[in-house]
Parts: sequence; C-alpha cells; structure tokens
Amino acid sequence: MHKIIFIIILLFCWSTSYSQSTTKPQVLIITTGGTIASKTNAPSIEGHDLIQAVPELSNYATIEVDEFVNIGSSKMTPLLWLQLVKHIRDALNSNPEIKSIVITHGTDTMEETAFFLNLTHQSKVPIVLVGSMRSSNEVSADGPANLINAVRVGISPEAIGKGVMVVMNDNISAGRDLLKMNNRRVDAFPSTDLGFIGFCDPEKVTFYRSPIKPHTSESEFNIYNLDSLPKVDIVQDFAGFDSKILTYFTNRYNQGLVISSFAGGRLSNGFSEIYNLPATHKPIVISSSIKGGRIMGSNPEGTPIIIANDLPSNKARILLMLSLTITSKINEIQDYFNKY
Ligand code: ASP
Repeated sequence: MHKIIFIIILLFCWSTSYSQSTTKPQVLIITTGGTIASKTNAPSIEGHDLIQAVPELSNYATIEVDEFVNIGSSKMTPLLWLQLVKHIRDALNSNPEIKSIVITHGTDTMEETAFFLNLTHQSKVPIVLVGSMRSSNEVSADGPANLINAVRVGISPEAIGKGVMVVMNDNISAGRDLLKMNNRRVDAFPSTDLGFIGFCDPEKVTFYRSPIKPHTSESEFNIYNLDSLPKVDIVQDFAGFDSKILTYFTNRYNQGLVISSFAGGRLSNGFSEIYNLPATHKPIVISSSIKGGRIMGSNPEGTPIIIANDLPSNKARILLMLSLTITSKINEIQDYFNKY
C-alpha cells in the first residue's frame, strides 16, 4: 500500500515539474495592419488569421492575439498612439504573465510609432515592432520569418531593459534609432550611424549592445492621463523657400514647429525671421532632412530655436509633442532633446 502511495506521489511530482518545464512564455501580439497583414489585390488579413497563418509561433510562446486596428500605417495618428500605449498598459495590468508585446505594424510610420512607444511605455516588459515589405501572398513573403523573429526577440531574457525594438530582416534595431531607407527592399531598415543592437540567427538571438538614451520605464513622459497630444507641424525647407509658408505655419493653430532643414541645420533665407523671434514664441526645432549625421551647436540664446541633434524631423516632432506635455520653456525642451 505504502509503495503505491509513494509511486502516485512520485508521478504527481514528475507531472507538475514536467508541465512547469514545458510552460512557454506568454506573448501578446497586437496587430495594427500594414503590408504584413495585406494580400496583393485582396482585402487585408484580420489579426487572428495573420497569426494562425504562422503556426510555428507556438514552438516558442503561448500567443494571445489582439487586433487593435487594421490600417495602412500611413493612416497612423497621434490619437491612435495615445490609445495604443494605454491599451498596452491595460493588457499588462490584466495579465501580469505577459512576457513581451509584439506589435505588427506597417513600415511607413514604424519608426515614429517605435520612437513614441519607446518614450511613453512605462514598463520594462519588452515591446517589439515588426512588419514586412512583401505582402503575404507574394513569393518569398518576409512577414512570417519577421514575426517569428520578433517573438524570439521579445522572449529573450536580454530583451528586458532594451526599450522598444524593431525586428526586420533578421536585424534588431533600437526603437529610437531605426530609419526606413528604402521603399522596396526587404532590407528597408539598414544599419544606420548607430548600428543594430542585435541579430536573429536560426540558432540564437544575440544582443551586442544596449541603447543608452533613457526610454520606457526611465522616461519622464507619463501620458496615460492625457486625451490628446500637443499639435506640432513639420515645415520642409527647399531651395527658394518662401517666407509666406513659414508665416502660414507660425500663425496656424499649433503649439510648436519642426523645420526639416538642409544638412547641418542650414536654412534658406525664407526662414531668417526665426532668429529674431523671442524665446516666448512657440518652440521651433531645427532638424536635418538628411537622415545620417547630426546637427551640432547650441540653441541661439533668447530665441525659440531648439536643435534636434540626430533626430530626423518625424522623431523630433514626437519628442517636441511629448516635451510640450511638461513644459513650454525653450531651454527645458532643449534639455529633453539633449537627453532623449
Ligand atoms: N503600406 C504599408 C504600411 O502600412 C507599407 C508597409 O507596411 O511596408 O505602412
């Protein structure tokens, strides 16, 4: 009798330890649309169908799917960003077992959404954005492999503390740093000045470095209580820029402007007026329209001008919007641009 009880206890212990060792990490995949959810000449794919088409995902994680929106990412808006970051917070609060969030996203505004979430997601739970350059019914569609890699990156213990990341074409980019440089090739987000932070190889996900600019749980931009974000416009410089365009934008209802300048922050004569404006004017950020390199130098004293350093205009706009949720003082906003 004792022997039987002993065997039953042994079997019970074995079965619980076996089930624990085979429990896979939980990953929430939030779908938002984009080419990864598209078919050439056919309606876009719904979130659940997109994930079901990649059954290999279950080799790595227990997947939960949540369709947030289904849009081309050229239709992304600041309001959707705000709703998305709150949606992520609510999902994590309702299921603390989630180890990672993977967001499928179009590539048009992927760098913007990644940067926004990198500065506003107040949690250490890694977020990985992923998309594709080829539709799901094209030959050699890149979506399934990118998606599997994104899940592999998200559940990697080293992903914790790296902020928001983007996985495309076997490369891992920091959410702050990636840039879309090609509108055709699967290698649309190549290594930029700051390089990749890691790689997805068949054997292993390997990280080589961590982003050092503050992000996610270390970021000051807590926007969960906001219903909208400050309005900021981008003005593109070009040869022969007409100052009337600047007048239009400065008079328009907005709380700040970003100028997409020539290399090094140089501007055409149509912008000369900005150097005469007082520091009490709405902030004007100068960013470079050239994606590589950075603008050096300090912001001219007594003016509303802020220098964007290495942030391109679309990301400078996001940082200005977030800075304006805290302050409208030019020197303080410049400090945020130096810091983030
Ligand atoms: N049209 C797509 C988008 O939603 C492009 C892509 O995903 O690559 O951004």
